[in-house]
Amino acid sequence: MTCGLALLVVLVAVSFATLIPAVHELTAGLAYEVLQDASYLLGAVLVAVRARSSEQDRLAYGLFALGLFLYGCGNAYYYAVVQHLTPEPFPSLADALWLPLYPALYVAVGLLLRKQLVRWHPSLWLDGLVAALGTGALAVAFVLVPLLQGVHGSRAAVVVNLAYPVADLLLLVAVVAVFAASGWRPGVQWWLLGAGTATFAVADLVYLLQIAEGTFTPGTWLDDVWLVGVVSMVAAVWASPPRRPAAVEGWHLIVGPLAFGSVAVGLLVWSSVTLVHEALPVTVLSAGTIAVALLRTTLTFREQRALVDAQRQARTDELTGLANRRCFLEQLEAALGRPQSGARAAVLLLDLDRFKEVNDSFGHPVGDDLLRLVGCRLMEGMPAGGLLARMGGDEFAVVIPGADEIQALATAEALTAALAVPFDLDGLVLHVDVSTGLALYPQHGQSSHRLLQQADIAMYEAKRQRLSPVLFHPVLHGGARQRMEMLAEFRAALDTEQLVLHYQPQLQLGTGQVVGAEALMRWQHPTRGLLFPDAFLPLVEQAGLMPAVVTRVVNEALRDLHTWRRSDPALTVAVNVSASNLQDRRLPGAMSRALADWEVPAEALTLEITENVLMADADRALEVLSALRALGIRLSVDDYGTGYSSLGYLRALPVQELKLDRSFVRDVVSDPRSAAIVRSTIDLTHELGMQIVAEGVEDAPALQVLRGWGCDVAQGYHVSVPLPADAFVGWLAAHEQDLLRRGRTALPTGPVT
Ligand code: C2E
Ligand code: CA
Ligand code: CA
Repeated sequence: MTCGLALLVVLVAVSFATLIPAVHELTAGLAYEVLQDASYLLGAVLVAVRARSSEQDRLAYGLFALGLFLYGCGNAYYYAVVQHLTPEPFPSLADALWLPLYPALYVAVGLLLRKQLVRWHPSLWLDGLVAALGTGALAVAFVLVPLLQGVHGSRAAVVVNLAYPVADLLLLVAVVAVFAASGWRPGVQWWLLGAGTATFAVADLVYLLQIAEGTFTPGTWLDDVWLVGVVSMVAAVWASPPRRPAAVEGWHLIVGPLAFGSVAVGLLVWSSVTLVHEALPVTVLSAGTIAVALLRTTLTFREQRALVDAQRQARTDELTGLANRRCFLEQLEAALGRPQSGARAAVLLLDLDRFKEVNDSFGHPVGDDLLRLVGCRLMEGMPAGGLLARMGGDEFAVVIPGADEIQALATAEALTAALAVPFDLDGLVLHVDVSTGLALYPQHGQSSHRLLQQADIAMYEAKRQRLSPVLFHPVLHGGARQRMEMLAEFRAALDTEQLVLHYQPQLQLGTGQVVGAEALMRWQHPTRGLLFPDAFLPLVEQAGLMPAVVTRVVNEALRDLHTWRRSDPALTVAVNVSASNLQDRRLPGAMSRALADWEVPAEALTLEITENVLMADADRALEVLSALRALGIRLSVDDYGTGYSSLGYLRALPVQELKLDRSFVRDVVSDPRSAAIVRSTIDLTHELGMQIVAEGVEDAPALQVLRGWGCDVAQGYHVSVPLPADAFVGWLAAHEQDLLRRGRTALPTGPVT
């Protein structure tokens, strides 16, 4: 078919060539007419072939082929007959053959359009209407009105004369409407059709002007202009129809209505000034254009707003109103740029500590409120240009484009500081701690995914170390997997002999007798050897395994104590419980069952709690502590002096003992301030009717000093390191022997192992 089109183009080119005087002489004008006739005929055949091969557009193309064929016949008739008559009749049979092309084209365009309309966004139809009305107004004002004023002759002559430009303009209006409705991207087919129609219209206008001036002669370049129009339309039939649906967003949406609207306003003004009689159609069309353009603009505005809303919703976290994960990732991608461009960025991942406890104890509405408040607070600590997002759950993330390590750390500090003041949720005061991991671009990762992963690893390290923020370091990378493995191993070890208790004796300073022991957990790991609690407990706590741990430890300690008490009925045991244990309302029940199972009186069991027990949910912790106390279990404040101590809570907690932290005891001999603290704490404890235990007693001078100040109990390497159960029994016997030998008031002189 390309060959057919090529032949058509060649024919037209040759036809143009014959207009060159020298060539014209040669062909004597005859060849020109033959070429013209042949061109129209070939065009009609090509379109007919297309109609045959196209199933969908057969009718449209068929009508066009017929119209074109008749048009060619009209041409042939004109050349053969009409032009030789004097005077030349107007209108003639040639006109009757030419004019049917237009209705054929209208119907064809209509059919093509109908198929496309289905794919168009409704508002685009309005664009088409605006364009049609606007072009119509222009055409009437600048073409029809002048023509009407210029054309004379018989009524039939005037009507036929005007029929051509009017028909052309109508076609042009339709094509422009399609252009507008397709967002000015109608595709090759419509461009060719538009070009053909426009060419036809120009040729018809020139023809009319020449007729009016009496200068028209057939067989000039004008005949070829018509032919060019036909070639363009035939090519349009063969071009593939547009597939891409028109775009419905972007600034260009508004350009069409705006342009036509402005033109229409101009026309309104102009018509009212100049065209008095014929102004009405122009006025009506212009007004119509403006009205539809306004409607279209309103619609565009609404659609755009809906679009913006939808986009915003897709990018914000519903709960906090902050950016969501999707938005965060987009911004992060944008911040990264190319590594060689020297771009920098910092990623911070923040995870609230013990948020699960808040949700569990107060319910999700309170948890949600807290997250909202946390979001607001974090915003206060944000640097300019940074983006804060909620990634889900209690995890927040920050990206700071261009930031280096210093800036990233400063931001982490600022964010932590923003959360320092407790949150007040309708009278419920909650402390929120956060663990922050940092990763930097490009040194820690080149992709957004990688950076987040590294920040996540650093964040987990921060949680594990209870030290925030942590900057990613490659060494941490191996740690993440190791921790997962370790946790799985610990779960398995919970029911095995791998978990053991070591007992550290507690010495009554007044009598020199051992009153009991603190049970300290050890993990006899199959490959890594004996592990101390610091190496695994934080991980276990994070995994929520503490309830199982405390039950296991208490049962084992009471089992041992049950045995020991047969020979020494005054012995007691102390067990450590974590803050999360005290959020567990099942704890008192578990303790009471264990005491009953091992037939140990509650007074022989001391639970050591740390000062931060009140941090998560003070009311619940107090409730659990009271229940434990009601059972008769002794309670002791461990690591006293290191937490957020306040004398107020000493009054609130139902405790019987304070364990002064070893950091004070260590320096009690060398540092006067430590000495003052220890001494006054001993007095304070006694004033409050409690017992005081000094932990971390490492040498004899410290022991002497403490005894001199009236400290009740001492525990530390100087007395003994923590010992396995059987070793503890042996040590106890040796100690009793020693005491007997020295007289019951003697104190140990050195560490016994
Ligand atoms: P803690 O409750 O303060 O336990 C005392 C820690 O001090 C023990 O470390 C003990 O070995 C160590 N220690 C004893 N005497 C001295 C001394 O003279 N000098 C020094 N520098 N240290 C001394 P350990 O066994 O590594 O336990 C560490 C922590 O792990 C404990 O601190 C306790 O908070 C926790 N923990 C141990 N067992 C358990 C348990 O069964 N449950 C819970 N929840 N926590 C436990
Ligand atoms: Ca302890
Ligand atoms: Ca302690």
